[in-house]
Amino acid sequence: MQATIRLRFAPSPTGAIHLGNARTALFNFLLAARLGGTFLIRVEDTDRERSELRHESQLLSDLRWLGLLWAEGPDVGGPHGPYRQSERSAIYARHLERCRKGERIYPCFCSMEQLARDRAEQESRRQAPRYVGRCGKLSRTEGERRLAQGESAVWRWRVGRSRTLVWEDLVFGSRRMETDELGDFVISHMEGRVGFLFANAVDDLEMEVSHVLRGEDHLSNTARQILLYEGLESRPPEYGHLPLLVNPGGAPLAKREGARSIAWVRSQGFLPDAVCNYLARLGHPYASSDLLDLTKLIEAFDLGKIGRARAVMDPVQLAHWQKQALARLDARMFEAWARDAPACVNPDLAALVRENVVDYADLGLWRDRLEGRVSLTPEARAAVAAVDPAFLRFGVTDGGVGDTRAFIDRYRSAHPEAAPARQLYPVLRAILTGSLEGPELGRIWSWYRPEGRRERFQEACRIHTAPAQGRQT
Ligand code: GLU
Repeated sequence: MQATIRLRFAPSPTGAIHLGNARTALFNFLLAARLGGTFLIRVEDTDRERSELRHESQLLSDLRWLGLLWAEGPDVGGPHGPYRQSERSAIYARHLERCRKGERIYPCFCSMEQLARDRAEQESRRQAPRYVGRCGKLSRTEGERRLAQGESAVWRWRVGRSRTLVWEDLVFGSRRMETDELGDFVISHMEGRVGFLFANAVDDLEMEVSHVLRGEDHLSNTARQILLYEGLESRPPEYGHLPLLVNPGGAPLAKREGARSIAWVRSQGFLPDAVCNYLARLGHPYASSDLLDLTKLIEAFDLGKIGRARAVMDPVQLAHWQKQALARLDARMFEAWARDAPACVNPDLAALVRENVVDYADLGLWRDRLEGRVSLTPEARAAVAAVDPAFLRFGVTDGGVGDTRAFIDRYRSAHPEAAPARQLYPVLRAILTGSLEGPELGRIWSWYRPEGRRERFQEACRIHTAPAQGRQT
């Protein structure tokens, strides 16, 4: 067992991080805290074309917003920096040089055309495609001579003798891989541009990372990385792979689908506690069904409980946790939350519909329902259509001084043959909100001024008498 516990989240800044990435970050954060270790951020920007600083700033801001604070990272520095791969070339060069001297790597001069021909031939023989090892047979002097002549090449890792690699994944259990299936693999371009496999392994080694929790999509990289560690004469971290988070259709979440990004979730008004509770339970059960703060999530986090089944993105669950998180806000905090909504919503209105909203879209919906033109759901329309129009006309003239009960009593004493009160309440709700659901009717009623109520009744009269076809609601 390593003396120190160190975990990292190692995002590539090629787009906005999505809920799946955030879950990986959260699980690393929770495990680090649970084991009393350190959590750090390393930015994996080896893909120069697709990496952008603005994505890095956004992802750091998203992680901070979630509350996953790190002790070391590109913005705060630390003893194992720099924390951006693009700034670590000298470190990779040093390790490459050692590997070159030890003949763990060799230059490969095969052209793309040659490699494509090899692949086609392997496929025609129904063999899995892998490098045939041609340049691995060149002598060292021959390789160096061709390099000195400026021939273009890449560095390949020499996999070596055939054997079975066996290792234990923290989530997927015992794993094995025949080294023959791997083929010598590329780890770097000649001009020092190292690839993901090598940079990632060197960094975990240099940063003394003890445990790696990462997406299941990296499971197939692990055997190669274990071989790299052997060559680097070091011990690999403990790897654990998290089953992917997939869309309801089964497709893995992708960064280009901005809709599932943390930035999008934030812009919709979701609260960090809601997102953390939702993510923490994806593939990891918690005994408590209460909304837990990060301290409680840490206390109950158990590596052994992480399941192997893919987790399906479920907006209903996210909404469930959001409702719990919203319910915890005091009036002032709720007002501040509503103030940040893109739809400009009057604070009194926001407080009125508080129990009925999940996100900013709901807030906008309720604002439109109560302040916009009357727009009825089909059920609300049916309720208005079924009522005696005298009720609607009464509302226009009466204006509704007092509460709903006083209003209905006045109407019923003026119209002794009127429907019972219990049938009229849903109609009132439909007129005032356009829906048969929502906040308590008495509160909605008194939220309107008398002229506001008159206008709603007026509009209901119009809807009632409008021909069924072409009705615009
Ligand atoms: N940069 C990799 C990714 O974004 C992380 C790999 C790892 O965690 O080892 O998928």
